[in-house]
Amino acid sequence: MYTEIISINDKEGLARAAEMLKQGKVVALPTETVYGLAANALDGEAVRKIFKAKGRPQDNPLIVHVADFEGIYPLVDNVPYVMKKLAGAFWPGPLTLIFKKSDIVPLEVSGGLDTVAIRMPAHPVILEVIRLAGVPLAAPSANLSGSPSPTISRHVIDDLSGRIDAIVDGGDCEVGVESTVLDITRDIPCILRPGGITKEEIERVAGKVEIAPSVVEKIEGQRALSPGMKYKHYSPRARVVLVRGTSKDYVNYVNGLIGDGVFALCFDEDAKGLEVPYLSYGSCKDYNAQAKLLFSKLREADEKGAKLLLVHSTEPVGVGLAVYNRLLRAAEFEEIVL
Ligand code: AMP
Ligand code: MG
Repeated sequence: MYTEIISINDKEGLARAAEMLKQGKVVALPTETVYGLAANALDGEAVRKIFKAKGRPQDNPLIVHVADFEGIYPLVDNVPYVMKKLAGAFWPGPLTLIFKKSDIVPLEVSGGLDTVAIRMPAHPVILEVIRLAGVPLAAPSANLSGSPSPTISRHVIDDLSGRIDAIVDGGDCEVGVESTVLDITRDIPCILRPGGITKEEIERVAGKVEIAPSVVEKIEGQRALSPGMKYKHYSPRARVVLVRGTSKDYVNYVNGLIGDGVFALCFDEDAKGLEVPYLSYGSCKDYNAQAKLLFSKLREADEKGAKLLLVHSTEPVGVGLAVYNRLLRAAEFEEIVL
């Protein structure tokens, strides 16, 4: 399949992308979190093409993207009171809300569940394309299933060129990790996946919030609340092992494992002591920088020939919780505590 690359400055190109989406085609679009692979959320057949292009398991539901508040009403069965507060505070932005779904949402989108995940993204390009297409867009991350999510257009081209109809090239994604997924169908809202909006930020607006156990624990044998959070995900080809400890202990540990294909994914503060090839994903306390860099550094490690990637674990606080959640899955939960 020929994949057209469209610049965000090309007005006619964006109109063409919207037309493709109306015709049931699939188009990758930049968002403020990661690149999304979009199709008309009301067209089950179009949505199936997303799963095919990504090689995504059918039971992993998709997030539906809308351009305005009105856009949610046809998609949901009822609107919990807390939604208005949350959407008022965080939309457009990286917060996805789970609602009971209406009948017009195809089961392909909900992965067979009776709920639907919805958000209003903050990136002007996807908002413009949703308006031009006149339909809500279902869009998971625009990567091959299992690999690190795409935060620059080249990642999308590497993974999906020849498999989808078009890619809108919008430069680098601002946040770098996916949206926070919050279930508001229960009495106490529950974070199913941590992301760009933190628990503390949500609690300031909505009161008490829970965190699903699967966010930092390996859930086996039972159905994950957020099916995309099953344990292996976001992985480069290299084996990833997390190492938790002070900078000194991390550096000593990694230097003791020097060998063919052994790489470090460290913090800026660790770099000077390391004797193995390394990549840094930001300063140890700068969780926003880590979120922005993590996925591209995982891909870069593969490009540089890493076979074993020893990652200095971050703290699971604030946006650091989202970073740690992705790291755990990239490492299949393998973490060494020094
Ligand atoms: P992705 O679009 O690849 O970032 O993945 C979307 C995430 O949202 C996955 O973790 C899904 O499991 C989650 N998700 C989407 N819809 C639902 C839903 N109805 N209930 C729970 N989780 C959902
Ligand atoms: Mg994804």
